[in-house]
Amino acid sequence: MTTFDDLGLGPEVLRAVAKAGYREPTPIQAQAIPVVLQGRDVLGCAQTGTGKTAAFTLPMIEVLGQGRAKARMPRSLVLSPTRELAMQTAENFDIYGKHHALTMALLIGGVALDDQTRKLERGVDVLIATPGRLLDHFERGALLLNGVKILVIDEADRMLDMGFMPDVERIVGLLPPLRQTLMFSATMPPEIRRLANTILHNAKEIRVTPPASPADTVEHFLVRATARGKRRLLEGFLRTEAVRNGLVFCNRKRDTADLARALARDGFSVDALHGDMDQGSRIATLEAFKRGDVRFLVATDVAGRGLDIFGLSHVFNYDVPIRAEDYVHRIGRTGRAGHRGHAITFATEDDDRAVKAIEAMIRRSLPVISGAETSEPTAPVAAEPGNAPAPKEQPRRDAERPAPKRPRGRSDERRSPTKNCTRVKDRAHDEDRGSSDGPVVGMGDHVPAFLLLPTPSVGRATAPKDDGDNEDDGDAKAETKPQTRRRKVVTS
Ligand code: AMP
Repeated sequence: MTTFDDLGLGPEVLRAVAKAGYREPTPIQAQAIPVVLQGRDVLGCAQTGTGKTAAFTLPMIEVLGQGRAKARMPRSLVLSPTRELAMQTAENFDIYGKHHALTMALLIGGVALDDQTRKLERGVDVLIATPGRLLDHFERGALLLNGVKILVIDEADRMLDMGFMPDVERIVGLLPPLRQTLMFSATMPPEIRRLANTILHNAKEIRVTPPASPADTVEHFLVRATARGKRRLLEGFLRTEAVRNGLVFCNRKRDTADLARALARDGFSVDALHGDMDQGSRIATLEAFKRGDVRFLVATDVAGRGLDIFGLSHVFNYDVPIRAEDYVHRIGRTGRAGHRGHAITFATEDDDRAVKAIEAMIRRSLPVISGAETSEPTAPVAAEPGNAPAPKEQPRRDAERPAPKRPRGRSDERRSPTKNCTRVKDRAHDEDRGSSDGPVVGMGDHVPAFLLLPTPSVGRATAPKDDGDNEDDGDAKAETKPQTRRRKVVTS
């Protein structure tokens, strides 16, 4: 078995990796790190959740450890399609580069240009940027790109989807031809392949999972619903204690706000995230969710890619994504780094085509929970004691409301929040069928077994806000919170 020690990384990086709590490299890390250290180009076909960020960050820190940056001439450039992904990459450099004195700048929209310019003037080893903001700086003369020795294009397929390819190609044209290029993409459509052929030289191609195949650690379910009945069904799920935290995806921005408001009204600790929010609010919302201050986040696909929310137990597709690949990205937010995750998709009759497209893409059929809309008010019902751990933290807004009345008596006497639901038709997961006297969670008399499984106990969701700026806060703490992110993000 390959260990981090076998990959050619130096002692400082190894120390940072050990402190992050990683015992062994993921497959993309084991394959990519030695190749990057040799100076070779890489084409990595890997989705988020595979450890691909460390696969390029760790060797880059090693390589950039030698040498110094000149004013306005970054030595390396990481292009990210979204601000959130860019911030996350910056956090990775912070964590793994803690024993190096590398300088870094993060150029993303929604943040004042001036601070970013000042940082560039001092010289940076690592520049992480979204394409638009990078070109803004370049056009203002704040930046020279002819010192870039390593280029990373992260989530290249996402760049394509977002219409950033012309910008990316322009940026590549501004870089010196003699450089190392690392390109990562979850899928490999022909346009990405073409780009790879033009900008990579003698690249090592590394493929860790088949393109667009969702992580094996995620259990998928489809819930048959009506447009009107979806919210009740969702609330039934959210009230189960096995749902520790969750991202709820809507297709439209407007719906995220409406649904978040409705859930908050019903006592859930919830917030909304969508692309119309200013950058400050997006960052604050996301950070609150990552810290566990907010248990549920209703979001558009702006949160669909790249986001790393450690220990996220559930993803709900309140709306079936219009494009099948978005399904893969959305559900990739859970089941990360070997943890179990659950993806539950609510589908109406109108969604049949989109569901078929998803099933074709992931090459499996989604086990179906067939539900019908209830006209009854939702009664919160807990899973049986012992089946699921009690939440460590009472959601804030729940706490503000009077305690809901819980039906007394045996679990089989409990009232279903969706008692008109039809019985489960679980095509693929027969072993998940619960007995009819199990607790009721919103699907008639059936509770899928996965809902009753305790989610792995991880500190992040309920951790107090104590992991701020102190990067040397002791190994013991790092052991108990192995993947705690530092909050300090370079925003200039
Ligand atoms: P990524 O695919 O880069 O978004 O990483 C997904 C998650 O895996 C992040 O939470 C990382 O902290 C975590 N991770 C990365 N490498 C390892 C590793 N070797 N062992 C355990 N977790 C890891």
